[in-house]
Amino acid sequence: MSVIDDVKNRLDIVDVVSGYTTLQKAGRNYKALCPFHQEKTPSFVVFPETQTWRCFGACGEGGDAFNFVMKAEGWDFSETLRELAKRVGVEITPFSSEQTQRQEESERLQAILDETARLFHDQLLNLPAAQVARDYVVNRGLSAETVAAFMLGYAPDDYRSTLQHLQMHGYSQDEIVEAGVAIRNDKGNVYDRFRHRLVIPIRDSRGRTVGFGARAFAKDAVPKYLNSPQGLLFDKSQLLFGLDMARRAIRETETVVIVEGYMDVMQAHQAGFANVVAQMGTALTETQLKQLDRYANRLILALDPDMAGVNATMRGLNVAQQTLGADQQASFDPRGMIRYTGMLNMDIRVVTLPDGQDPDDLIRENPAAWEALVGRAIPIAEYVIQQSTASLNRHSSYHERERVARDLLPILTATESDLQRNGNIQSLARRVWIDEKTLMQWTQRRRAIQTRAVPTVHEQRQLAGRSSYNHPGRGSKSGKPGQTTAPQESLCLSLLLEQPDRLAAANRKLRELQTQDAHVNPSLGPLGTQDFSRGDYQAIFDVLERSLYQDELDPLDYVFDYLPHALAERVDQLLALPHEVVRRALPPQDSATAYLRTLPGVTQFTSFEIESLILRQSRIERELQELYFLQQDSQFEENELTDYHYQERLRDYSRARRLITLTLRDIRGYARNV
Ligand code: ZN
Repeated sequence: MSVIDDVKNRLDIVDVVSGYTTLQKAGRNYKALCPFHQEKTPSFVVFPETQTWRCFGACGEGGDAFNFVMKAEGWDFSETLRELAKRVGVEITPFSSEQTQRQEESERLQAILDETARLFHDQLLNLPAAQVARDYVVNRGLSAETVAAFMLGYAPDDYRSTLQHLQMHGYSQDEIVEAGVAIRNDKGNVYDRFRHRLVIPIRDSRGRTVGFGARAFAKDAVPKYLNSPQGLLFDKSQLLFGLDMARRAIRETETVVIVEGYMDVMQAHQAGFANVVAQMGTALTETQLKQLDRYANRLILALDPDMAGVNATMRGLNVAQQTLGADQQASFDPRGMIRYTGMLNMDIRVVTLPDGQDPDDLIRENPAAWEALVGRAIPIAEYVIQQSTASLNRHSSYHERERVARDLLPILTATESDLQRNGNIQSLARRVWIDEKTLMQWTQRRRAIQTRAVPTVHEQRQLAGRSSYNHPGRGSKSGKPGQTTAPQESLCLSLLLEQPDRLAAANRKLRELQTQDAHVNPSLGPLGTQDFSRGDYQAIFDVLERSLYQDELDPLDYVFDYLPHALAERVDQLLALPHEVVRRALPPQDSATAYLRTLPGVTQFTSFEIESLILRQSRIERELQELYFLQQDSQFEENELTDYHYQERLRDYSRARRLITLTLRDIRGYARNV
């Protein structure tokens, strides 16, 4: 259980609110003068059963203990969590001093790297000794604009100059070594790491310099590329070269092309193929893939055929069983990739480059040919099958064909999608001349003895709580209502975190609905914090919403920058909501919009818009439920209820509920008939 849930479960909303206003018992609930607005008759209600509160008066807001205290004290979520945790005796691992120190340290290193990048760039442009570097850049066909955009630089043939420059800027030797710009040898001498090389700054997805790749000029120099050492900022498993420049194009084309080298990326961008990034010489990691999955549906690997890594991987397939799970040094791991295709629902494809050519050469010689090549990329599973069965023909022995098939099966069935698994087996059957049924049997026997590591679809659904969905307003009779998981809220928030700009479209839909009935004014307004019953979700939504009203940062980066520390874990959980579940909520955009396009009287709804209607529906249910509570308990006198616009509100909610229900029914009914 997360700290937030732990604290929340130990709190009693009645105790919490009593600290701020005098509560008066009213049936099963409590009423009070609203602490957030001036009033003479109480319109503020606390519901112990659901551990929630609501002001039925001027504020019209509600929530849980967290957002009550946030509002009452004016604290942010982190402060509130800290204080409430203290109150109930839950210990929060202190990130204060240690994390702040780390933060300061990384900012300092960042500044060193920025200064170094500036220095190198300036030297490339102006230093007489950098002529060799300038010639090199011209020979590689890189334009002045590209040099500037990627901030290429030159490190002089000198052991001290960079070090001295940085020391003059007030940085200590230790810091400069820590930043990876200088090296301390066994004797304790400190000297420049990069000497007489073309230096390429490596930036994270937000464009901050986190390290360098430095290329030697001599053909036989070893190493050809010298990278920054792994460190606080430079983590190869997290980085993709060029992502900061490529992000927009990747999002627009929903496609990312992954190449091997820095030069390939620069050449591609220069030629207008802006959706190209490079892996950092290691196997693609899950972190990198998830990062790309935010922007792209299709991932194309452009692999150099004579690259040692690929050959090693393909050889490795012969002993696939032993290498399963082993950490390979290959540049990509087909088994992992095939699994991800299913897991991330990503279309992963491979382009094989002509022998001896890399994207750099290819693009320079003939950009159109590159474009055509990328267009002909084949699915990763197909690629693996082709490569591994290349030596087989119809006359190969059955034994030989069986061996290849048995080696490939565990890889080809590693996907979580049945459709893909069957497709892969079909395709393999054709290439090894063994019928599908036999292949299927071999697979099942294998699968039966394997312990299952990945959760089944059913388990995933339970994880996301979608199948156990209850209207939050009803609460659960058993257990503490404060523990409701609010699955629709999780789902919508997770979808928004993935793509914040979905919000605007969903709000437009609500507005369209609103125009159909003049009487449903407030209850069909734009999505807001009040659509979420949990304080932590409200706080996350708040940051998400703000991210859309600025244009300095990518909304997602803004969210991560401005999110209160205490919510980081919660956001990770939401982002990790099993992709299967999230994707099921989002059928392929085309089919969703296709069948809704023709819906009479209703303009097309995307899947998120439908999910957000369901979210609004449950909020209305929740608030109606609260109003009914009050009516049943009838502890409020008739005129009091009128004062709170009780009847008016009830009418408004009922009409809005009807409108949403009808719309959802239309959509669903239509979808069923298609
Ligand atoms: Zn109020």
